[in-house]
Formats: sequence, C-alpha cells, structure tokens
Amino acid sequence: MKIICIGRNYAKHIEELANERPSNPVVFMKPDSAILPKRNPFFIPPFSNDVHYEVEVLVKINKVGKHISTKFAHKYYDAIGLGIDFTARDVQAECKAKGLPWEKAKAFDGSAIIGEFYPKKEFDLENLSFQLHKNGEVVQDGNTKAMLWKVDELVSYVSQFFTLKKGDIIFTGTPAGVGKVVENDLLTGVIEGKKAFEIKVK
Ligand code: ZN
Repeated sequence: MKIICIGRNYAKHIEELANERPSNPVVFMKPDSAILPKRNPFFIPPFSNDVHYEVEVLVKINKVGKHISTKFAHKYYDAIGLGIDFTARDVQAECKAKGLPWEKAKAFDGSAIIGEFYPKKEFDLENLSFQLHKNGEVVQDGNTKAMLWKVDELVSYVSQFFTLKKGDIIFTGTPAGVGKVVENDLLTGVIEGKKAFEIKVK
C-alpha cells in the first residue's frame, strides 16, 4: 500500500507557515515503513529538533482506480479515519530552501500515525469536525468544510498521477495549530467526538 499526502489544504495553516496558496493540491508520499505500529510510542528521531504534529482526516481507498472523475470519486473509498503527519519542520525548511524533495522530513519511520477507521456513512464529509489534544488541551481544531479541495476532488486529482489501489490511504492536509512535540507529550485524536488514536511521545 501507499500513503498519499496533501499539503496546504487549509488556508489558515498556509498562513501560519507563511506558505504560498497553491493553484493545485500539493502532493507528497510516505512509504509503508512510515506507519507507526499500533500501540507503539512515537520516538522523536535524532536528526530533528523540531518535529511537529499535523492532525489530518484520512481516506481509505477500497478499489483500484485511475483517472477517477470527481463525480465518481465517492465510489473509491468507504472508510474515514484520523491520523498524524509527523513532520521534521527543521529538515523540511532546509529541503524547501534548497528546492529539494521533502521525504527526509515527512516520510521517515514512524511519521505516519493511522488511527481507527469508521464507515464513511457515519460522517458528513462536508462538515466533519476533528481535534488534536496535546496533554489534554485542544491544539488543533479543524473542520473539513474549511478544506480548499474536498475529499472527492483530492481523490480525483491524485488519481491523475498515481493508480489508487485497495488499502491506499490519503492524508488530506492539516488545519492550523501545528506545533512541536516534546518527550512525554500525549497526543489524542478525536473525530466527531470519537477517540481515533492516542500516542505517547518518547
Ligand atoms: Zn500534513
């Protein structure tokens, strides 16, 4: 399976990182080795002093597709989840400054937190609220209605470049409020009031 991630999909997050608003979705990938095994703590990697959490809504693909139109995109996923796109912000800043790819900052081991998935029919994807709590305090509070590109548009867009396969996961971008993690932080992801994951930082 593969993980396809979308960057800069919420205007307020673009502002907080002083990024340019893209004219198309920003796309990058994580390998399956980036997935943090369930119930494992997240270890801050030694190559970064500034690892950030980014809570994101996840979409699980349930059948193979290429060149999917927005209209039919909903037929290609059946489950919605919540996760974290851990980002070594200092490494990413270096890559960006040099115009280099982001993989070292975004795709390292353990950088993909994948929480519980729920049947998509349980949610209104146009108005889905989700939060990240850090040590019991809400640090990110998002809603899919603030997405620049909606889920169906994202599925359609990425399928123009990559054949989507059953089991692939799309990270749909993070809202504002990203920040640094330190040892002993406890991160809890909540989607429509349901606890989707809990991660201890080591
Ligand atoms: Zn992200």
